Amino acid sequence: MSKILLKNFLVFLIIFLVIAAIFSTYNASTEKPEEIGLEKLISQIEDEQVTQIIVKEGRLEIELIDGTKQISKKEASESLTTLLKNYNVDPEKTKKVKIEVKESEGFGFWALTLLPFLIPFILIVVFIWLMMRQVQGANTKALSFGQSRAREMHQKGKAKITFKDVAGCKEAKEELTEVVEFLKNPKKFTSLGAKIPKGVLLMGAPGTGKTLLAKAVAGQANVPFFSISGSEFVEMFVGVGASRVRDLFKKAKKSSPCIIFIDEIDAVGRQRGAGLGGSHDEREQTLNQILVEMDGMETKINVIVMAATNRPDILDPALLRPGRFDRRIVLDIPDINDREAIIKVHAQNKPLAKDVNLRKVAERTPGFSGADLANLLNEAAILAARRNKKEIEQIDILESIEKVLLGPERKSHILSEKEKKITAYHEAGHALIAHELPNVDPVQKVSIISRGQAAGYTLKLPVEDRHLHPKSEFIDELAVLLGGYMAEKITFGEVTTGASNDLRTATQLAKKIITEYGMNEALGPRTFGEREELIFLGKEIREQRDYSEKTAELIDQQISYLISQAQNTAQEILTKKKKYLEKIVKELLKKETLEREDFEALFQPKKIES
Ligand code: ADP
Ligand code: ZN
Repeated sequence: MSKILLKNFLVFLIIFLVIAAIFSTYNASTEKPEEIGLEKLISQIEDEQVTQIIVKEGRLEIELIDGTKQISKKEASESLTTLLKNYNVDPEKTKKVKIEVKESEGFGFWALTLLPFLIPFILIVVFIWLMMRQVQGANTKALSFGQSRAREMHQKGKAKITFKDVAGCKEAKEELTEVVEFLKNPKKFTSLGAKIPKGVLLMGAPGTGKTLLAKAVAGQANVPFFSISGSEFVEMFVGVGASRVRDLFKKAKKSSPCIIFIDEIDAVGRQRGAGLGGSHDEREQTLNQILVEMDGMETKINVIVMAATNRPDILDPALLRPGRFDRRIVLDIPDINDREAIIKVHAQNKPLAKDVNLRKVAERTPGFSGADLANLLNEAAILAARRNKKEIEQIDILESIEKVLLGPERKSHILSEKEKKITAYHEAGHALIAHELPNVDPVQKVSIISRGQAAGYTLKLPVEDRHLHPKSEFIDELAVLLGGYMAEKITFGEVTTGASNDLRTATQLAKKIITEYGMNEALGPRTFGEREELIFLGKEIREQRDYSEKTAELIDQQISYLISQAQNTAQEILTKKKKYLEKIVKELLKKETLEREDFEALFQPKKIES
């Protein structure tokens, strides 16, 4: 109400001001008399030329005997008669002039007299009006705050994601087929007294297709799909998360049967009682609300909650109890066969040249997740397009592997001759040691073209997928990591900053060997340090020390020992095989990049040239 009143008032005010302005300009335009100085006026009075003077504040409107009109100005505070007296005008002559004092009028007058009062008033009104608008805006915002931001997805027609679009993940799909059945035909199960599962927890590394699978279940069962991310529940204000959960379930129940997908459930579902500050209260409330909603869901209502996490170890046990997320599905990083299948799925709508061998691509991509592979093919398509090709060739895909692994090549990042030489020795050092040690993956590529952060790189790829790693592999890996550093040191007598990344990696690896894998004799088969991840203003890992000061010292010692051992190994190989080091460097400086075949050819006894 008051808002309307205010608006009306403002409108009236504006109309009034406009009218006043028009009126005053109209007034001004009708009469345009000559403006004269006071001296002239006085001389005219003395000459008895003036018949009438109208005084409006500081303005004098003068009429002469012959009818011409003039204007003049005086100070507003001084009256005309005193003014004339001061100028020693003959009082007799003054009397002959008809002097009329008028209140001034018109816009100027009104503005002048009213504005000093009006301006603060207008300002206050505008201010209050703005404030009210603000408050109202905030109100509506605060109201929508508690609503879930879940995205609903109805899949239709060809765009529908089904199990066909998910390659590999055989066991997961088998397990989920049951869920699809529940959604499609609940009676079949309930008539036998079976309870419909409420929650399915998908566990797996990022990019292994958790979201994809959840969507595929919805698509396969032809039901709506609500998705929200756990981190969206965690807001600044306590209680918002819980109300979002409530809202989400309300929406979902309305469109039952359907699937609710909660991504990153670990953001809210981590063990209660761990954490810091307010965000932890909020999480707890949100988590409780999820549990309440899941428990309260009647068996008739056919809503299945699927949640994804890559940290199942930190989830609150309450989430995993029967009747909640009691179905757990693990998604592994794909093995070679699955990788091939995933590549095939993503290659479907891309024109491939005849020379493309997807099996070879799968061989070259151990450790890639489904998302990495999808990205790889996309990069390959972009690369092929940049090269004006009509089809994607094998070489485009292979080159994209490195791009996905190491970041884009930076050919423009030109090294000086000196830097190039240092980089060549550094990389040759890594490569030579990798070649000489038995427990290291074969070198696929050595390059001194900078990529991402690195000045050069040595790429090693495993021949097969491996899940278990023996200590010997780590020990050799440490020597390879130090190969670059030692090659620089032996050749130039000093090292550059180029080795810093290697050193960090090596130190972390050495620490893991001791504190996580129990591979150190002196410290024995146990772990050191309880890791605790906190989500509090971003991600943070805090390590809790669960060992004594003395042990800490020992760990330090052992890390240094492992690294110095690796240093010795590297030094030994580099000095013994200096000939090969020089060979690799020479070749690298010439070609900048050596593929596996070129690299290995360097170690073959030279063919006798004829
Ligand atoms: P997550 O949720 O586990 O982090 P996503 O489900 O979002 O991973 O996967 C990201 C993308 O990776 C998918 O959109 C899909 O293109 C691709 N992808 C992952 N796994 C597979 C798979 N098994 N088959 C086909 N594509 C996959
Ligand atoms: Zn290096």
